[in-house]
Amino acid sequence: MYAPDQLKRKVRSILSKYAEIDKVELEGPFVVVYTKRPRDILDSPDVITTAAKTLKKKIVVLATQPLKEEKDTREFIKSLIPPKAEIVDVKFVKETNEVYIIAKRTGYVVGKGGSNIMEILKETGWRPVVIRAPTIKSSFLDTFYNVIIENSPVRKRLMKKMAQRIYRPRIGEDRGLYITFLGAAREVGRSAILVNSSESTVLLDAGISVGGRNPFPRFDLPIFRLDELDAVIVTHAHLDHSGALPLLYKYGYKGPVYMTKPTRDLVALLLYDYLQLSERVGITPFFSWSDVITMLNYTVILDYGETVDITPDIKLTFYNAGHILGSSLVHLNVESARYNILYTGDFRFRDTKLLNKASHKFPRVESLIMESTYSGETDILPPIDKAEEMLFQIIRETAEKGGKVLIPALAVGRAQEIMVSLVDGFRRGKLPDIPVYLDGMVYDSTAIHSAYPDYLSPYIREKVFKEDKDPFTDPHFNFISSPEERPDATRGGPAVIIAPSGMLTGGPSVEYFKLLAPHEENAIVLVSYQAEGTLGRKVRDGAKEVILPGEIEPVKVKINAKVYKVEGFSAHADKVQLLAYLGSIEPRPHRVFLIHGEESKIRSFIPLAHKSTPSGMRISAPHVGETFRLA
Ligand SMILES: [Zn+2]
Ligand SMILES: [Zn+2]
Repeated sequence: MYAPDQLKRKVRSILSKYAEIDKVELEGPFVVVYTKRPRDILDSPDVITTAAKTLKKKIVVLATQPLKEEKDTREFIKSLIPPKAEIVDVKFVKETNEVYIIAKRTGYVVGKGGSNIMEILKETGWRPVVIRAPTIKSSFLDTFYNVIIENSPVRKRLMKKMAQRIYRPRIGEDRGLYITFLGAAREVGRSAILVNSSESTVLLDAGISVGGRNPFPRFDLPIFRLDELDAVIVTHAHLDHSGALPLLYKYGYKGPVYMTKPTRDLVALLLYDYLQLSERVGITPFFSWSDVITMLNYTVILDYGETVDITPDIKLTFYNAGHILGSSLVHLNVESARYNILYTGDFRFRDTKLLNKASHKFPRVESLIMESTYSGETDILPPIDKAEEMLFQIIRETAEKGGKVLIPALAVGRAQEIMVSLVDGFRRGKLPDIPVYLDGMVYDSTAIHSAYPDYLSPYIREKVFKEDKDPFTDPHFNFISSPEERPDATRGGPAVIIAPSGMLTGGPSVEYFKLLAPHEENAIVLVSYQAEGTLGRKVRDGAKEVILPGEIEPVKVKINAKVYKVEGFSAHADKVQLLAYLGSIEPRPHRVFLIHGEESKIRSFIPLAHKSTPSGMRISAPHVGETFRLA
């Protein structure tokens, strides 16, 4: 790695052939070049790519000062962006030369491959940031976007500070390379893996175990030192991977957390929802919204395929994981040990309508850390079209009887997978023309999905950009934004209702369950894993009556509605996909660590994995707290 001054000089000497460079700054892991004429460099795009390749750095070109007044910039944006983008507001942040464009249909603001964004920067000198305007009332999105806009100057200052730590001189001693599993080993929940190299300490995921006996990772172990932590990397937004993030900041961590942009938005949503829920049920949460804001200020956004230095001896690259919007595989190149680690987080190894399957080709991989949620003997999921066919048939039959279909689903991921399938069912005439109601956080989560078409499957992108049809805004969908609107969904004729939580452990799905379960014309369709002890599990196992907490006293709910289990919409790789991944990952790792799965499942999977992979691959099932030396 170059020393900071050497790096700045190198960048300057390469780019000054194209434009006069005012300054080169290191901001977080990025090299930011300031020039009065960004167009001169950006119009020859190969220059940046070549420079980035030679120096192995992400280079960002910005204008030293705005080239146009606010008024003229506003006008230019209006003339460039098609009216169907429905721009709601344009806000300027002078301290950072940023212009926030808030629009209902952000795809049209960004333009194909980001062409409009580039044009705004080149022409006006303001750096555009695009934000999706909520189309119905959303207290989360209002709060969140204000935080993002207001804290922009703070983030800029922190990025410069973080760069100093990334570009510190090396110690140069060989201390080996170690990984320690702080959670999610022989269990599902509280994902956290510590990586200690000769020069640095990095944490992969900081999750909690929602409702588990041990909610937090083993941050109490002596090997974990918050003051030595260089970076946190988050694979995806689910709380079992991100829920402990605010806790780290609450206890004084002052370093970067790396994630993709959609993951940032979804993490904020899930943490916001966690706080709201805690307030409603009267428990004191272990963090506050101000801890979340601190976390957001230290968040460094990284795209798939961008490689950056995160410490003096570790380079990080994200790859698509195919699990939920923005989910990533984490690739670490540890230079001091000449060693490469691939951590899957949660992943899926087959395409769906919503997402592409996980990447499986990498420059180098010595150790693979793989999730194994569905590694059990019977964990074989049916093909997605079979699952869809079954769901459509249930909806058709229920509608014919005049009943309603309740689908309890996770608000992030599962709900959108099903929405996309339903739109296709309506289009192909496989579904009757009935309304679909979406409750709770599904609205905010869907809004975030539709803001990032570039992270979704080619199928969705095609619909959005070519056919001008965003499947998430299909006219069949009705978003319920408050409990007062719920009767709209439960009165009247046949309908489909999608509501969280997926295991009927709380949230609007339970309220709908109370209203719909007693009537035999209705149907309850379980599309998610139903954990032991949850209401969803009881319903799945055929309970005829359940007692639920009510507002004043417990209520008895009779279950006369038909109950169905539809598998195949899972966001995880099943046993077959896990084996296929081990068989097709390139290059072949020589060590595999199986985590994020029940002990019995992993035990039955290991002999299978040995059989279907070349000999010489060492497969381990670590325990929580266990440390392994890799090099
Ligand atoms: Zn997940
Ligand atoms: Zn997980």
